[in-house]
Amino acid sequence: MAEKKQQIYEGKAKKVFATDDPNLYIVSYKDDATAFNGEKKGQIAGKGAVNNIMTDVIFEMLEKSGVPTHFVEKLSDTDTLVKAVKIFPLEVIIRNVAAGSFSQRYGVDEGTALLKPTLEFSYKNDALGDPLLNDDHALALGLVTEGQLAQIRDYTHRINGMLQFFFIEIGLKLIDFKVEFGADNATGEVILADEISPDTCRLWDAATGEKMDKDRFRRDLGNVEETYQAVLSRVMGVNKK
Ligand code: UDP
Repeated sequence: MAEKKQQIYEGKAKKVFATDDPNLYIVSYKDDATAFNGEKKGQIAGKGAVNNIMTDVIFEMLEKSGVPTHFVEKLSDTDTLVKAVKIFPLEVIIRNVAAGSFSQRYGVDEGTALLKPTLEFSYKNDALGDPLLNDDHALALGLVTEGQLAQIRDYTHRINGMLQFFFIEIGLKLIDFKVEFGADNATGEVILADEISPDTCRLWDAATGEKMDKDRFRRDLGNVEETYQAVLSRVMGVNKK
């Protein structure tokens, strides 16, 4: 089994370790939670395991459906062996329903259905507060090439379609989500990296509209740990509706 060597990165929710193979990393998920660009900090017991296990299930599904991902092998409840990538400094968001910063920016009530899936980019830069960015901005700053950008847009729309279907099957409506891509160290190909979890998706119960994601932490709605466990149970097929 691959072993953790030196830590090469520590983010808000994960640590990344080198392995003996320069083209493989180990991602280790933490229970730490932050919101509002790090202003609000806390811990969500069990979150690291929920996000790791859920991401692995979803990435395997996406991989089988033709979206290349960094997933290699689940090592433990909190650790996964992944392909080493150089992450593009872009947060790629798709919105199906208005919520969060979209609702605030454009003065649209949360829960308003959007007329089309809406893709937006933010520049991953904490010092600047992750500002919104369009395609020209990303190209002008040299964050990605035209080819990479087209690939990222295409993959993200396909991911949205597959995720909407996956989640509605377990009684969850996919409001919006964020993904990150990287260039595979070994091949240079654009592949999906980072995570897909209740930290990075807005998921509302399809029957009751209850928020089943990180907004419970951001907005102090209570039952945070229980909600993460409930989402994982549904993903793993327990309580399947
Ligand atoms: N999101 C994320 N990381 C970020 C910003 C946003 O995972 O740094 C996710 C967030 O969970 C939501 C979607 O992207 O599912 C859209 O978030 P929004 O722009 O509305 O930001 P927020 O309201 O969270 O500030």
